Amino acid sequence: MGQQNKRVVIIGGGITGLTTAYYLQQEIKDKHLPIEVKLVEATHRLGGKVHTLKRDGYVIEKGPDSCLASKPEVSRLAERLGIEDTLIRNRKGTSYVIAGGELYPIPGGSIVGIPTQIAPFITTSLFSLTGKMRAAADFVLPRSQETEDQSLGKFFRRRMGDEVVDHLIEPLLTGIFAGDIDQLSLMSTFPQLYELEQKHRSLIAGIKKSGQSVNSNEKGNFLTFTEGLQSLIDAMESGLNPNTVYKSMKVTSIEKEDSNVYTITFTNGEQLEADSVIVTTPHHVVQSMFPTYPFLTFLKEMPATSVATVAMGFAQDAIKKDIAGTEFLVSRNSDYSLTAGTWTHKKWPHTAPEGKALLRCYLGKSGDETIVDLSDDEIEQIVLEDLSKIMDIEGEPEFTIVSRYKNSMPQYTVGHRERIQDMYEQAEASLPGLFIAGSSYEGVSIPDCIVQGEKAVSKVMEYLE
Ligand code: FAD
Repeated sequence: MGQQNKRVVIIGGGITGLTTAYYLQQEIKDKHLPIEVKLVEATHRLGGKVHTLKRDGYVIEKGPDSCLASKPEVSRLAERLGIEDTLIRNRKGTSYVIAGGELYPIPGGSIVGIPTQIAPFITTSLFSLTGKMRAAADFVLPRSQETEDQSLGKFFRRRMGDEVVDHLIEPLLTGIFAGDIDQLSLMSTFPQLYELEQKHRSLIAGIKKSGQSVNSNEKGNFLTFTEGLQSLIDAMESGLNPNTVYKSMKVTSIEKEDSNVYTITFTNGEQLEADSVIVTTPHHVVQSMFPTYPFLTFLKEMPATSVATVAMGFAQDAIKKDIAGTEFLVSRNSDYSLTAGTWTHKKWPHTAPEGKALLRCYLGKSGDETIVDLSDDEIEQIVLEDLSKIMDIEGEPEFTIVSRYKNSMPQYTVGHRERIQDMYEQAEASLPGLFIAGSSYEGVSIPDCIVQGEKAVSKVMEYLE
């Protein structure tokens, strides 16, 4: 009698779930294993937060727009999929920060806002003399005695002083996490900076000694695809075996039977059985699928910020006064609603047709999320008002696309790493064969999600083999 296939079900078709499904099937094929994989997704499309729109010659990212090129996972996956020749890097340009309502170029050589070159730091008018002297105290301040986790705000304020934090570091970190730096965990976001302080005492000296430097060549630091990040999603979807993907199938609950078989129930009442389940949905959804497991209750309380992106197309000659730059960030002490903006047609020239300008702005941060619930018209008005403080635009945009991402940016608050480790251990003990991965746990960036997908594949293979 033939051996019965093992059944793996992956829940959630964002970048994490899709990467898991793709790499898992590749490994199963390579090793000729009797394992079948299904990927179930609540909505009618794969990609989750990754979503590219194409219209009138524009390539418009609704959610994420690129990945850090220094992280190898996207290039590696693109090569595996045979789409590496469509990878492109951004065009470099000046980045700005709006602090106290004024626009300043970000001093060259800053890494996470930490100055690594003396001249741009001394000459910038972004910081007062007192602020600069306070930041220079980093050279002499003792290392922290902290052995437990601490907030990013506490860590950076102690080393660099409030002014450098408020004018530069905080806006940069808000751009990444949309969070409150006085709540976010150092050990879950930048553990390497804690190590650097412990090793070298000074962050500035430590970064220099560790050989980290700002890329000074012509190539940009970010990667995307000529047809947008959706290319990665579409290529992985096409690379899956037929009958792997089930769209518009929303999971409501998962129950483990005594035999360690899982029964997955969908909103339409249908059920699916699995020997192993990988859940890659946002964290609050995971908790709702397993309401009776107390070790998952904390996921209900784990915060997630709502954000929105606003893409606007203009005829280039409608922009009467422009800024020579590619992007800007906004500090909390500025009278702006935007948190950041990109002159996308300059940073990524392939995204707009000849003679057109594509601007992309971001709204929503922890403590200021209600703006995301305003109507499209209200949001458009707010964005145009903010833009008019730094640019002169004549007439209305040719189009405006508002994309809302409710509760989409998981907040890794102090103690996150320990809570997640504890969750993994308890899941292994009481729900063998269940694996949890995605942006809520070990990194929010696309490369971090791909790493988590890769790790999930190793874990499920080890479990089933
Ligand atoms: P998701 O993309 O959220 O996927 C989860 C999937 O699970 C979804 O498809 C969802 O429909 C599905 N699902 C939910 N509930 C159920 C259910 N009950 N049953 C079945 N399926 C379900 N990162 C970068 O690296 N670079 C950037 O430029 C960048 N910019 C960003 C901009 C924005 C506006 C946002 C919101 C995020 C950005 N990020 C960026 C972060 C990054 O995009 C995300 O962290 C990442 O895409 C999350 O992927 P995921 O697979 O973990 O989750």
